[in-house]
Amino acid sequence: MKSTSLVWLRNDLRLADNPALSAATRREGRTIVLYIDETAIGVRPPGAAARWWLHNSLQALEADLAGLGIDFTVRHGDPALIIAEMVADEAVSAVFWNRRYAAGERAVDAAIKAALISSGVTTESFGANVLVEPWDIATGQDKPYSVFTPFWKTLKQRPIAQPLPRPDAGISRQANQVDDHYKEPAWAEKLSGHWYVGEAAARRTLADFLDHRVDAYPEGRDFPDCEATSGLSPHLRFGEISPRQIWHAASMVAQMAPEKAAAIDKFLSELAWRDFSYHQLYHRCDIAREPMQAKYATMSWRQSADDLAAWKSGQTGLPIIDAGMRELWETGTMHNRVRMLVASLLTKNLLIDWRLGEQWFWECLVDGDVASNPASWQWVAGSGLDAAPYFRIFNPVTQGGRFDAEGSYVRLWVPELAALPDKWLHNPWEAPAEVLSAAGVKIGETYPAPIVDLKASRTRALEAAAAL
Ligand code: FAD
Repeated sequence: MKSTSLVWLRNDLRLADNPALSAATRREGRTIVLYIDETAIGVRPPGAAARWWLHNSLQALEADLAGLGIDFTVRHGDPALIIAEMVADEAVSAVFWNRRYAAGERAVDAAIKAALISSGVTTESFGANVLVEPWDIATGQDKPYSVFTPFWKTLKQRPIAQPLPRPDAGISRQANQVDDHYKEPAWAEKLSGHWYVGEAAARRTLADFLDHRVDAYPEGRDFPDCEATSGLSPHLRFGEISPRQIWHAASMVAQMAPEKAAAIDKFLSELAWRDFSYHQLYHRCDIAREPMQAKYATMSWRQSADDLAAWKSGQTGLPIIDAGMRELWETGTMHNRVRMLVASLLTKNLLIDWRLGEQWFWECLVDGDVASNPASWQWVAGSGLDAAPYFRIFNPVTQGGRFDAEGSYVRLWVPELAALPDKWLHNPWEAPAEVLSAAGVKIGETYPAPIVDLKASRTRALEAAAAL
């Protein structure tokens, strides 16, 4: 019997630039690709919106693998048991995977690797999901980076490995089975109106961005109504495209069209924030639970179920915040600038624990990422390593006036305010009665009064941070 190679895919649902898949298909014999809906302790299960994405991504992968004649199977349960079972049942002689970086994930993988090796099964893991492995980049003192700018300067000097091609077609194919483990919750059905999922869609999204939108990126990326950013984050989250593919495709465009080089440099520096988040995830504590700055463990967070509920449902009475939270609920994403504003309002003005916001984002984001989500929340909350300074408390009214001056973002997501003139759109509670009445707005009835006084809560947040 010819030997079988097993490829265990996790956050790398693609054929191209997939070293584990390439290694398996280079061997003699059959290749089986396995995805496990994991129940292992220490592995964070995807949130509800991300599960919708996952389901669709697995279906796309199933079709892509079928095109190559490679068998694909989806299982549910403990990966150690499932892999052991498959090794026995399918005469597997080699198992390959691409690495992941959270402490719990590494512990699961290390235990499986040890068990496979002790049973004589060839096992190999590869770097595929970050630009540079977190242990391959260090400060001059050989320490992990805690500040982004020097991290980026060093990363830029490093050669980034060239992406691998798609593997060649295999020989046999058995029935595949993306069954209903990932059935989307009812609310997630609407997500399908907003996204194209899968490796081919990821490639198209990148090409479209580099062809048509990257020039506007440096200036446009902060404006939520401008489609100036790439929209690649959920594709990266599930590894439908690799950061190396993005890096090399963008660098090639910069070479061919030098007038785009500065914009591409800015874009790649943002991509490097993703690597920086993984660097933190790998080197620090459990970043979704523990503050990276220890003093934040003593912060006296407020408990307010009502304020948290108003924030989640986009009913805070602060238009740009409500627009962002409603965008998140409807589409599974939120513009980066607005993510910063809603996180600042929750953790600073409302003084609510960043972990509650992080968890809500985890449930609702299609790009909910094990490294970028907690690292970004800690950055905004002030407890991160290279965090926004504690005195940076975004004012949603001034930020709204600056980044949504004509109000198209707020008007889209908070239609009950649409008829207000721009001048009062971001602070409707201060508008004169006749303006409100002409726009059909009744504060406290058609739209809430602000749940928090921005000035007083800013002072309270500064005092809380100073007391640490
Ligand atoms: P682009 O601007 O086109 O950037 C290209 C890629 O670079 C992104 O797809 C992303 O992979 C990476 N990137 C850009 N900015 C950042 C950043 N600040 N941190 C890390 N990576 C970045 N991003 C996630 O991918 N998953 C998350 O769960 C997530 N949670 C966040 C939570 C908060 C509170 C904040 C403030 C930011 C969060 N981000 C997260 C970062 C950022 O908002 C998104 O990556 C970005 O909005 C995705 O849109 P884009 O793909 O069009 O980005």
